Amino acid sequence: MKVIIVGSVAGGATAAARLRRLNEDDEIIMFERDEHISFANCGLPYYIGGEIKDRSRLLIQTVEAMSSRFRLDIRNLSEVVSINRKKKTVTAFNKTKNETYEESYDILLLSPGAKPLKPPIKGLEEADNLFVLRNIPDTDAIKNYTDNKKPKTAVVIGGGFIGVEMAENLHHLGIQVTLVEKLPQVMRTLDFEMAQFVHQELNAQGIDLILGEEVSEFTNHGHTVALKSGKSLSSDMTILSIGVVPESGIAKAAEIATGPRGHIKTNSHLQVFDANTGELIPEIYAVGDAIQVIDRITGQETAIPLAWPANRQGRLVADHICGLPAEYGGSLGTAVAKVFDLTVASTGNNESQLKEKNIPYRAIHAHRTNHASYYPDAQNISLKLLFSPDTGKILGAQAVGKEGTEKRIDLISATIRLGGGINELCDLEICYAPPYSSAKDPVNILGYIATNSLSGVYRYVQYNEIDDLVKKGVFLLDVRTAIEYSTGHMEGSVNIPMNELRSRLNEIPQDKNAEISVTCQVGLTSHVALMFLHGKGYTNLSNVSGGYLTYKTARFEPSACSHKPISRTEVNTDMNSFSDIKTIEVDVCGLQCPGPLMATHNAVKAAAEGEQIRIVSTDFGFAKDVESWCKANGHRLLSVSNANGKYTALLQKGSKPAVAQSNTVSQENATIVVFSGDLDKAIASMIIAQGAVAGGKKVTLFFTFWGLNALRKTQHISVKKNIIEKMFGFMMPRGARRMPLSNMNMLGMGPKMIKSIMKQKNVDDIETMIQKAMSEGVRFIACTMSMDLMGIKKEELIDGVEYGGVATYISSNENAGTTLFI
Ligand SMILES: Cc1cc2nc3c(=O)[nH]c(=O)nc-3n(C[C@H](O)[C@H](O)[C@H](O)COP(=O)(O)OP(=O)(O)OC[C@H]3O[C@@H](n4cnc5c(N)ncnc54)[C@H](O)[C@@H]3O)c2cc1C
Repeated sequence: MKVIIVGSVAGGATAAARLRRLNEDDEIIMFERDEHISFANCGLPYYIGGEIKDRSRLLIQTVEAMSSRFRLDIRNLSEVVSINRKKKTVTAFNKTKNETYEESYDILLLSPGAKPLKPPIKGLEEADNLFVLRNIPDTDAIKNYTDNKKPKTAVVIGGGFIGVEMAENLHHLGIQVTLVEKLPQVMRTLDFEMAQFVHQELNAQGIDLILGEEVSEFTNHGHTVALKSGKSLSSDMTILSIGVVPESGIAKAAEIATGPRGHIKTNSHLQVFDANTGELIPEIYAVGDAIQVIDRITGQETAIPLAWPANRQGRLVADHICGLPAEYGGSLGTAVAKVFDLTVASTGNNESQLKEKNIPYRAIHAHRTNHASYYPDAQNISLKLLFSPDTGKILGAQAVGKEGTEKRIDLISATIRLGGGINELCDLEICYAPPYSSAKDPVNILGYIATNSLSGVYRYVQYNEIDDLVKKGVFLLDVRTAIEYSTGHMEGSVNIPMNELRSRLNEIPQDKNAEISVTCQVGLTSHVALMFLHGKGYTNLSNVSGGYLTYKTARFEPSACSHKPISRTEVNTDMNSFSDIKTIEVDVCGLQCPGPLMATHNAVKAAAEGEQIRIVSTDFGFAKDVESWCKANGHRLLSVSNANGKYTALLQKGSKPAVAQSNTVSQENATIVVFSGDLDKAIASMIIAQGAVAGGKKVTLFFTFWGLNALRKTQHISVKKNIIEKMFGFMMPRGARRMPLSNMNMLGMGPKMIKSIMKQKNVDDIETMIQKAMSEGVRFIACTMSMDLMGIKKEELIDGVEYGGVATYISSNENAGTTLFI
């Protein structure tokens, strides 16, 4: 038997190798229009960006190696230009010899793939800096351009997977990238609120996002990109990645049936049909990006240009040709992409697709850590699940997060493929140890939320329904702690923390049929509150899916970014030119603000002028903070880079001292009067003091009246006191640890909660803050006059405190740039 294969990459090469493994005798000829066969198209962006350094790694197979291993007749640089179905021949054009010839076949397999869409935009053909990316020649052209022309700016048109990957990789080369997308979001496999996580990441990394905008024209040989809104962008290079169209030209010309978007139609054995009669053509098969497939979720026809389906179909066709049972049951579109430090994955249909197809669905969100939260480096994964409210069938899922994100989507994809629904998600027995997962994996949690939602106790409402609900008069209850609530909340919500709900029930509508929507940070505490309210007889309840985190993320406004991208190459060059200079390494991963800045300040203080300091931090704000800190303190910021969720700043100590050396008071100084005896205010004082020190100021804290309690030793000190002094001493808290909160003290519960939150968030406790501030050189002055009035003795105060009266305060305050009374 003689088999001809058109196309030699994902589908074609897979089929050829499998055919040979199954059958040693068949004659197999594989035509490839280009030079290269079986190359790693998915790796192309990473070679351009420098992640893959060696070009030869992209060439998985060569003509020689594959021919000899599988005894194939591989004809590269040979394009099949037509098919004669009657004669069972193809006509091929040999580009090397410039000749056309015919080749007969018993079986023909088409795997010609899809090509980048190039719409007739004015000025596109004249552009000398515009590229598409599909194959090795495209890659070489882009690489040559970036290497030789050294573009400073790039416009990427299209926010699909390839566009986003290219934006990231050009950014890694130090190019300022603007991504223009016609839709209001990138990555259309995600729903908007999930894509917002991607927008945040792109902006944070320095990619300028212009969403909901179309290109109208290229002028100036492509160096100016005009948008329909009238805006124009200057572009040193442009990547056009607005989608692909199937390479079905020769199939259409041979009257092989194609779908509405030009994809070749096939049966479940991947055999094609006659365009006129609809009859099956059993000797012609088609696979990969060029074909139409069945959407496994909806049963409708669709096209999914991804590598997994192409590879799977290639193998199945070889099996079928060799008489093995082989059927392709459709695609789910399971996909994953890296977007800087994020992993973005999805499977099945998204909400917009389900809406379009009028398929009833229910949507739920979950935000969970990728492994046990107590194990270091736990990172959030945000998930969305869509399922049928009638049958529990899973219709689609999306996840955005860091390590382990794609694993969750793979689990869901496998569950769908094996016919499982939301109950099976609960039943998935996952492997668990703290570094990998939690005993309740995020995927199990999705199953629990989904099954709970069908129990009828409450409904789910979505982030985009909240404003209307509030307008309608629905009571929106936020059951987070007051501290969480104060960091941001939904407009119109009322805060009653879960722990107070039982005692404050009189603050919510008393009518048991009143509509009450409950929210919290991620939708978990709200579930607890809803079960409680249900138990109390409330009947009209709903939970805000994904809680405040989904709501807040959905409101993010993608914008131009102020960060200048810093390339790895640039950093290296910098480091090379300073290679003789001593570099001090500082690792502050896990510390929250102001920890990283304090560590930077200390390291700089210890370094000699001209020495370099490299600080690695996981604090998101650090990249920005360090820039302004260096500017304010006369140090040179050599680079800031971001990889794997870590921000690395390399700086060189300048001549200006980080902290004023003399004791003389100047505009650089800051004085804080700590009058309050509240824990939260003492914490605020310490944070401000540390921040001011890090900013190069000389700081004096003047403790007076109730503020003195923060300086008291915790243990009882036996000193001589009169009866009133003893009573005062007994009633006042001994030390910062025992001080109450100014609000929501709740008989000591509030301070415990805030301490626990601080611990979780890696914020130092108040005593450590005091010790650190002292060691940074912050002056702690206890007001002797207040001590006298309150009967506090020197022996009762912690070491390192200075004693002074109002004169000391006045002198420290004189000419101070900052004076605070707390
Ligand atoms: C930059 C990039 C990144 C990608 N990243 C991913 C990813 O991360 N994950 C993923 O799942 N998918 C990814 N894809 C998509 C994936 O590569 C495709 O889905 C897959 O390669 C399709 O396989 P195919 O065999 O249908 O077509 P292709 O692999 O495109 O192969 C078709 C071949 O046929 C040749 N050909 C076409 N017509 C003729 C003719 N008439 N005669 C001779 N030869 C012909 C073409 O030159 C081409 O080499 C990416 C694609 C690109 C371009």
